[in-house]
Amino acid sequence: MIEISDVSKVYRTAHGEVRALDDVTLAINEGEFVALKGHSGSGKSTLLALLGGLALPNIGSVSVAGHDVGNLSSSERARFRGENVGFVFQMFHLLPYLNVLDNVLVASTSGARAANRDYATALLTEFGMEERITHRPGQLSAGERQRVAMARALLNRPKLLLADEPTGNLDEKNAVAMLDFLVGFHQQGGTIVLATHDDRAAERAERIVELSAGKVVSPVTTG
Ligand code: ADP
Ligand code: MG
Repeated sequence: MIEISDVSKVYRTAHGEVRALDDVTLAINEGEFVALKGHSGSGKSTLLALLGGLALPNIGSVSVAGHDVGNLSSSERARFRGENVGFVFQMFHLLPYLNVLDNVLVASTSGARAANRDYATALLTEFGMEERITHRPGQLSAGERQRVAMARALLNRPKLLLADEPTGNLDEKNAVAMLDFLVGFHQQGGTIVLATHDDRAAERAERIVELSAGKVVSPVTTG
C-alpha cells in the first residue's frame, strides 16, 4: 500500500537547511495500523505530509495505493487525496464560520450533494453528534470537535487514514474514544498511519516505527 524509498526532505529557511527526513525507507501493507513515534521535531508530520501528497520529497520516492505521489501534478495530488486519504489532526482544523454538517461536507470531492449530506449525517449520528449538526465549532468541546473531524476524514470512504497527534488536545476519555475509533477503522480493513509522541497511543497500533532526527531508528513490533 505504501512504499517510501530513500526519501529525504529538506526545508530551506532563513537560518539554513533543516533535514526533516534523512534517507527514510519504509513499507506499510494494506490493512496495517502503524504508529510513527518520536519526539517533537523528529519528522513525523513531514512523513505524513508526504504520504498525503501535501508535500514533495527532495530525494527518493513515495508510492501510495499505486500512485507515485512525488511525481503527480498538484491537481492530480488533490484528486489522489480526495479518493484515497482521510486526515485527522491535533488542532482539528475545522472552519469556525461553518456549522458541523458543512465542516464535514467541505471534504467532499465527488458524488451527489444529497448523497454526501446523507452520509455526513449518518457519520455524525454514529459519533453521537446528531443534535449538534447546526452548531459551529466554537460551541463544541474539544472531544466533540475531534468527532466532527473524524466524520470529515471518513466522508470519502478512504482506504488510508493519516492521523497527526489526534489525541494531543483531548482529555483522557476523549483520547481513548479517538484511539478506539482508529482501532475500529483498522478492524474494518483500513490502513492507518498514526503520528504520536504518546506511548499509550502508539501501543494501540500493530507496529511502532520510531523516528529520531529524521531517521527510522527502530521498527518494533507490538503484540
Ligand atoms: P514532528 O512532527 O515529529 O514534530 P516535523 O516533521 O514537524 O516533526 O518537523 C521535522 C523538522 O523539520 C523539525 O526540525 C521542524 O522544525 C522542521 N520543519 C517542519 N516543517 C517545516 C517548514 N515548513 N519549514 C521549515 N522547517 C520545518
Ligand atoms: Mg508533528
